[in-house]
Amino acid sequence: MIIRVNTLAEGVPSERSCEYDAGKIDVEFADLRYSTPVRFQANMCLESETLHIWGELSGQIEQVCARCLREIASPIVQPVDLIYDTHDIEEIDALEDVRAILILAHEPKFLCRPDCRGLCPGCGSDLNSENCLCAHKRIA
Ligand SMILES: [Zn+2]
Ligand SMILES: [Zn+2]
Repeated sequence: MIIRVNTLAEGVPSERSCEYDAGKIDVEFADLRYSTPVRFQANMCLESETLHIWGELSGQIEQVCARCLREIASPIVQPVDLIYDTHDIEEIDALEDVRAILILAHEPKFLCRPDCRGLCPGCGSDLNSENCLCAHKRIA
């Protein structure tokens, strides 16, 4: 979202929204992909050479469980609250800050559930849903 400062009326809040292609703005990880564009819904207000932008980022993500490798789809909503100094500045591009918010929200070891049992290191079975023969052997 690029905001031309001279299009904003001093002290008058306004709304704007845009969508980012998650692949193009580089916010995806090996274990986190977006199945929808990232929607940025923003309110903004310019006052005394300070631009305040607040609102939220939302989208649908698919995360891979670090233990069982299952893909879990879930919505993501991140609050946005940014302040820019507009002195001698014609244009503000919020993209770098949007990207930082999304990257910081990434959980490095996402689990499909806290007690996910993961995959059997022996045969690769998903131990949440099946008991493999290796487990029998270990018990015996
Ligand atoms: Zn899991
Ligand atoms: Zn096994």
